[in-house]
Amino acid sequence: MKAAVFHGPRDVRVEEVPKPKAGKGEIVVRVLRCAVCGTDKRIFVHGQKNVVPPAVTGHEIVGIIDEIGEGVRGFELGRKVIIATVVGCGKCIYCRREQYNLCDEFTAVGYDYSGGFAEYVKVNARIVEQGNVILIPDDLKPDHAALIEPLSCVLNGQEYLNPQKGDRALVFGAGPIGMMHASALKAKGCDPVIVADVSDERLDYVAKFGVGTPVNTSKGDPAELILKTAGGEKFDVAVTACSVKAVQGLALKLVRKKARVSFFAGIPKDDPVLPIDTNHIHYNEISVFGAFSSNLKHYHEALGMVARGEIPADKFVTHKFKLDDILKAYATIEAGQGIKIVIDCE
Ligand SMILES: [Zn+2]
Ligand SMILES: [Zn+2]
Repeated sequence: MKAAVFHGPRDVRVEEVPKPKAGKGEIVVRVLRCAVCGTDKRIFVHGQKNVVPPAVTGHEIVGIIDEIGEGVRGFELGRKVIIATVVGCGKCIYCRREQYNLCDEFTAVGYDYSGGFAEYVKVNARIVEQGNVILIPDDLKPDHAALIEPLSCVLNGQEYLNPQKGDRALVFGAGPIGMMHASALKAKGCDPVIVADVSDERLDYVAKFGVGTPVNTSKGDPAELILKTAGGEKFDVAVTACSVKAVQGLALKLVRKKARVSFFAGIPKDDPVLPIDTNHIHYNEISVFGAFSSNLKHYHEALGMVARGEIPADKFVTHKFKLDDILKAYATIEAGQGIKIVIDCE
């Protein structure tokens, strides 16, 4: 079969590799689509310690069950599925609470295990057993289903934010994750939903998708520009969906009493310390949350939202490339173009 094999930073080659076989407890999935995540691009550029070459990355996978190993129950050949990314150790306190993303020993599809930038992907017994192969409606378009994984991460973050109808919402970052946050906040009745970014090109999509009100914060004082766009009032929920430390401070400054703030995106490891006025948090009863990856329940929630058309999935997929052209997909992301880029592995 064909696979995009990562041999090292900036060295991905589409080549012939042996097609995987389903052993005991395993499932082989024929990949229809695998969307490209920001982390896939980061691995392509810099590599990552849990991706040991030669490796196949890609974790936003949609496919068809092609082979079912001995002992696997509850699946039929030919059914459409997505594969959840994170696999816990199964023993620790977090795994017993089904919080696999918080497991200290967690491993992941498309990182530790071969991923979806290939014609077939094998799901090992531990991953099948955890429930990571998720059946989806057969009539759900593969392009749309490829959005479920990133949306599940967004919904994990929003579980903490608990957005309510009429809440005023602010999202920093108009990349795919920021746009998904904005659409989910909008779907939950937040009004207004302000999306701040420094790229007019990306902000154009905010209006085009109808997910919020764009504001370019590079054109003056960011706080002033945001408040002006929002009619002068502060926010009930704020999400930082860009890896910029200053934005975390800005988010805290721009929320009102009883607000919830998600530090959704990580920031560069070499400079993560932010001085904050903790009295501002104390007296105003502001809650600040982290969020990392997602859990199975968030996949099911995201699947429901995509299937019910609650996010503009058609618009989200701005670029699609064949597996042979995966380098073009990375180049497109590096050029800062598009929102969600999907690899067609059929
Ligand atoms: Zn992802
Ligand atoms: Zn664990």
